[in-house]
Amino acid sequence: MSTVSLKKSGTGFLLKYGDVKLALDTGIKGETTLLSHSHSDHIGGLKNARHIIATKGTFDTWQARRSDKLGNKTTIKHGDMFGQIGVNITALNAGHVLGSTMFLLEFDDNLTVLYTGDFNTVDSLVHKAAIPVQVDVLITEATYGAPQWVFPNRKTVYENILEAATKVIDEGRIPLFHAYSLGKSQEAIALLQSGGFRVISGNTSIDKVCSVYKQHGIDLRHHSAQSEQLTDLLDEGAVIVSSSSRHTVGNMQRTLGQNEFARYETKLEYFNLSGWTIGKFRERGFPLSAHSDFKGLLNFAKGVNPRVAYCFTENGRTLSKHLSDNGIHAVPLE
Ligand SMILES: [Zn+2]
Repeated sequence: MSTVSLKKSGTGFLLKYGDVKLALDTGIKGETTLLSHSHSDHIGGLKNARHIIATKGTFDTWQARRSDKLGNKTTIKHGDMFGQIGVNITALNAGHVLGSTMFLLEFDDNLTVLYTGDFNTVDSLVHKAAIPVQVDVLITEATYGAPQWVFPNRKTVYENILEAATKVIDEGRIPLFHAYSLGKSQEAIALLQSGGFRVISGNTSIDKVCSVYKQHGIDLRHHSAQSEQLTDLLDEGAVIVSSSSRHTVGNMQRTLGQNEFARYETKLEYFNLSGWTIGKFRERGFPLSAHSDFKGLLNFAKGVNPRVAYCFTENGRTLSKHLSDNGIHAVPLE
């Protein structure tokens, strides 16, 4: 049995095993790309790819935010298998954003590999948790792969966000929650609407992604920052979700006019929704993350029970050490 080779390439890796070559979350000339999701740190060089395999959710969220078209695409559903010479490829839910996928690779000699992409082991209002499968080789993200990043229970985080929104509005101010446009913004909007808040999306990239989520059956109700009712919404008490403060300010200025906007600008109170609000960075806000926390990563790897785990992203080295301490041979991918 030969060994799996993984080489860093652009935003992802080139995996080689025997005669099979697969590009993971990166485009390489002449190769097939397995695209886990459409966040910008996973989509480098896709125009070079010979062939791209991803879910409809991933292709749709890609297209919502970009004007360029991808070439030769194969759409795969979670649970479905795609066969090519030397390997069968199965897409599994990753729980990170709409359409996000882990890829299970089953090679002709029975070696099995799981590539996680970014994943979350906790259910959210809009995404279902990733479930581990047992394989020989695990290739896992390690974004929060250090012990300082253990997130509180998601229900507690939700309650804290809703409490903060209530408090700020009761004080006559305007809460603005900063969240990535793909995934986190939609979760924030779903949460805030479930809490009975009027929600304004601060910038159009959120609106574009929300319309894809709605096409995929997720109920999201929000107003645009360019809405004619913006003044009424802000006066009656509303919450803003934004992935770009600059664009949100620009949109509000255009809708309200400079003088009117100045009246509201001083009332804005900013919070981040991110795992980076705890641990060493301690941004102001709440640890709402689309990734697994440290415990989630450890428990997932234990569930996979691989012969070897490769850990990518910046905490790969730390997670590898902790996996090794837990009896899983692990190697950082750098
Ligand atoms: Zn991501």
